[in-house]
Amino acid sequence: MDEQTLAPPQRAHGHVLPAGPPDGHGEASAATVGTASAVRSGWSVGLDVGGTKVHGVLLDPAGVVRHETRSATVRGVDGVVGGVVDAVHALALAGGVDVVDLAGIGIGLPGVVDHVDGTVEHAVNLGVDGRAALAPLVAARLGAPVDVRLENDVNVAAVGAAHLLAPGELPDLAFLALGTGLAAGLLLDGRLRRGSGGAAGEIGHLTYVPGGRPCNCGQLGCLEQYASGSALDAAWPGPHERPAPVEVFAAAAAGDPRAVRVRDEFAGAVATAVRLLVLTCDVRRVVVGGGVSGVGTPLLDAVREVLRAGALSSPFLASMALEERVTLAPAGAPVGAVGAAVVGRDGALSGGR
Ligand SMILES: [Zn+2]
Repeated sequence: MDEQTLAPPQRAHGHVLPAGPPDGHGEASAATVGTASAVRSGWSVGLDVGGTKVHGVLLDPAGVVRHETRSATVRGVDGVVGGVVDAVHALALAGGVDVVDLAGIGIGLPGVVDHVDGTVEHAVNLGVDGRAALAPLVAARLGAPVDVRLENDVNVAAVGAAHLLAPGELPDLAFLALGTGLAAGLLLDGRLRRGSGGAAGEIGHLTYVPGGRPCNCGQLGCLEQYASGSALDAAWPGPHERPAPVEVFAAAAAGDPRAVRVRDEFAGAVATAVRLLVLTCDVRRVVVGGGVSGVGTPLLDAVREVLRAGALSSPFLASMALEERVTLAPAGAPVGAVGAAVVGRDGALSGGR
């Protein structure tokens, strides 16, 4: 497992990439999550299985990303299991680690996950109908006695963000995923808060505008109709050369009054989500991630501006220092895959319901 054994991968599937330099995005200097949790030593693999791609990482015993893989998602149970198994083999080979010696394998994916029995439901983006026992299927296909843990994708992103942004600190943050929809992953006092029915953090379906835009959930005016990538797509119809969020923020910065309106409405809704998370859980950080976070600093600035304005008229809000708690997910870092690898090896994070 020393440097000498880091042989190049022999299989093309999974397209193994060397991890970035130690100063690349900060991930290489990250230590293990949680001083209070019982982190097991050893190498682990994390997979972030999305609707279009499977992103994998190999974490070394110090929690440093040593190898990454990216491959296209193959839909359906067999496709997902096969993609995960191929990525695990490719990463283990790249790191010179036997699969049987891994401290664990974590898989993050969109859907309602039972982390105890490793099943997922409603993973429609992956073409998985009904209920599928993905973790046991992956373990059986690997044929090695290694722990395989399944977790919701927003939850692993929360764990990954804590690992990359605040190594050595007891993780305490909300990960606000601004993607197609809006949801939050809650990592409180070092543990994931999944909720009694797995629905903790589904703040996208809180009513934001009574009688407002219709939502797929059947309600009107849900927050995710105003604070999500889909909301920006709808407010800024194409065709565009760049993603709608990037175009909106660029046009607003250039003074386009319509773009300014769209941007400010969006930032106001995201700021509401930040307020909600801090006032409910008093999390140390709210990490803004998901596809829209690719906008970068202009997004963070716009949200902070709304929070700052709110603090001016409310000593109560001012005392919360909201604008200091909100931050962006590390740009370009495989946050979800890193979090999955941490979940894979760290029983304490996954313990309990
Ligand atoms: Zn809704």
